[in-house]
Amino acid sequence: MKKRTFTYEEIKAMPATRQEARDANSDWYYTGVPCKNGHLTPRPTRTCHCLDCVALYGTNSNLSESARAHQRTLMRKWRREHPDYHLRYNASPENAWRVYLANFKWRNKDRLDHWTEKDFAYLKELHTEMQRLVKETGIKHRIAYSEKAKPGQPQVTLYSEKYRVIPTGSRA
Ligand SMILES: [Zn+2]
Repeated sequence: MKKRTFTYEEIKAMPATRQEARDANSDWYYTGVPCKNGHLTPRPTRTCHCLDCVALYGTNSNLSESARAHQRTLMRKWRREHPDYHLRYNASPENAWRVYLANFKWRNKDRLDHWTEKDFAYLKELHTEMQRLVKETGIKHRIAYSEKAKPGQPQVTLYSEKYRVIPTGSRA
């Protein structure tokens, strides 16, 4: 992806969330929240990827190796200076869900062809349940895939119902 540049006026006019961008049929949105590497760029509504991260790590990055090395140094510096950024960002359940969903989609990209809105709504319920359990027990949990049907629910109606919250055994 060739990196685009934006004027201040363009950025100011962008919707603030991906959902608003979808509703407004806008190709771009701008949250004002840095990505996990501290970049602050508009995001394409279609992929929601950070453009700077794509330029650095994308398969068709057009930056030279020395330019990438320089960017990586800046990213490390930013993370050093904002050690609690992830924690503060993820302290909001809505942000934690957004991060989880983005990672989940990436990890399971070959598996989600048939997923519907209902599946993602169910996954969000599991995620809320996971956060509640972590808070109550102090034990980390994860959402795991299982071929087995839930007890008392032999008929699985959603693809997402093959997932469940299980403890990982380590302290949160
Ligand atoms: Zn980034």
